[in-house]
Amino acid sequence: SKLKVGLLFGGRSGEHEVSIISAGAISQGLNANAEKYEVLPFYIQKNGQWMASDIAQQVIESGKPLEANEPNPNLWQFPSAAASVDVWFPILHGPNGEDGTVQGLLQLMQKPYIGSGVMGSSVGMDKIGMKMAFAQAGIPQVKYMAVTRAQIYSDPCVFPKLCDQIAAELGYPCFVKPANLGSSVGISKCRTHAELEAALDSAASYDRRIIVEAGVTAREVECAVLGNDYPKASVIGEITFDSDFYDYETKYTAGRADLTLPANLPDAVAQRIRELAVQAFQAIDCSGLARVDFFYVESTGEVLINEINTLPGFTSTSMYPQLWREAGIEFKDLVDQLVQFALERHTAPA
Ligand code: ADP
Ligand code: MG
Ligand code: MG
Repeated sequence: SKLKVGLLFGGRSGEHEVSIISAGAISQGLNANAEKYEVLPFYIQKNGQWMASDIAQQVIESGKPLEANEPNPNLWQFPSAAASVDVWFPILHGPNGEDGTVQGLLQLMQKPYIGSGVMGSSVGMDKIGMKMAFAQAGIPQVKYMAVTRAQIYSDPCVFPKLCDQIAAELGYPCFVKPANLGSSVGISKCRTHAELEAALDSAASYDRRIIVEAGVTAREVECAVLGNDYPKASVIGEITFDSDFYDYETKYTAGRADLTLPANLPDAVAQRIRELAVQAFQAIDCSGLARVDFFYVESTGEVLINEINTLPGFTSTSMYPQLWREAGIEFKDLVDQLVQFALERHTAPA
């Protein structure tokens, strides 16, 4: 009999809309394996409410979110259809989905699920935790400093001294980021003291945890990883754009960024990136899939890890599936392999 795949999408994050498009593509990919899988869609509204069956299917087909009311925790319940799911496929991007929260729920349900477990997901989402793990694994990265909201608003005020310290340590330009977001939301590039102060204040409105990084001038290249205990790395892709950095607008305005597949890199550099991608995947104990993003400093030949994304964008034009297509794995076979890796991990001894 067919395996029932619970496709979990939408979610309480700024990447709700992208998640719906990713889910549409994955649903098609699973349906292309109709002899093996039956798709049960579950849509998490912006207010956190789960919707199953027809409503979820309509959201996938329209590609548009449902208007949601204010969150009402008293209304929260599982749709009864969840009981018949054999394997979960969460394709939620960002907080409340890519960060271990939903993975913990699925773990407690004792059902297999696609992608990383609780730790890989949460460490991958938190840029401070992620960088600490990468440092420990000896993976090269930019210099950074961790800052908390409490330091920014402390009384007596240590903020000016903190900014001086950051400037002395990292120099300009530097990048200020909320630790637990994605899609470049809340990220600023700072060239002056005044910009740094404003950026910290702004980032603190998104997250208690903030990271400041030394800015690099580099090409941006990405590598897809697939597997569990013997993960494989894809070819390398490159992103190019005209804007100052790969910000939200550049990411989500059609035509603003270009993907080059495969990236035009010396073989040794591409090979180094693939090795580092697998090391990063293992450093935070990922499983199933991840997209690992790097800076390639052409003038020195240096490769620096930027970040790992444990549930990367999965639309038909997203980097992750395109990297595997370039490596010879079609979309429908990619989702099939992901389901199989989820089953393999679930049945392996803990
Ligand atoms: P997100 O998780 O939101 O994608 P990133 O850490 O990848 O956040 O940063 C978004 C973009 O900001 C990067 O793709 C890059 O263009 C730019 N950027 C981030 N950090 C740096 C840095 N240290 N030096 C240069 N550019 C950076
Ligand atoms: Mg990210
Ligand atoms: Mg990024």
